[in-house]
Amino acid sequence: MTLTEIEEDFVFPVYIYRDTIQKIHLLTKDFENEIFGYLIGNILEWKGQIYVVIEEILFILGAVHSDKFSTSQIEGTAGKYEKRFQRLKEKRENENLRIVGWWHSHPGFGCFLSTTDLKTQEYFFPESYQVALVNDPHQDELKFFTLDKNSKNGYKPINYAILT
Ligand SMILES: [Zn+2]
Repeated sequence: MTLTEIEEDFVFPVYIYRDTIQKIHLLTKDFENEIFGYLIGNILEWKGQIYVVIEEILFILGAVHSDKFSTSQIEGTAGKYEKRFQRLKEKRENENLRIVGWWHSHPGFGCFLSTTDLKTQEYFFPESYQVALVNDPHQDELKFFTLDKNSKNGYKPINYAILT
């Protein structure tokens, strides 16, 4: 197999625009709290492989996610996000837009999923295409994760490509 053939069959599980990454960085860099929001995008398929392209992020001022929160506290915020998402779909006239995951910041303590984060993922974003984006604005780090029952931690990091 030549390199070209490999590249033609290769698809990243996640594509995100550089502008979106910059937006998340700007929203989170001045906060000591964990800022939290939804990832909105399209689910696509290439030669049997499902992947997502993140088109937009939803952000509610003051919406934070923390290990101290219970699932019911997060649920209150989730209801607000559902309404925002429906409005966005109407505004964009795009019925194919989906909630493809969520994002939140870990200011200064690196990118991973905590026990609460994992519960949030399992409870609110259980679909195989739904991803968790964690950014650490202080260390300028960003990672994507997905549920993985076979992994010791219950999740695994996944690769992503940046679109310009
Ligand atoms: Zn977290």
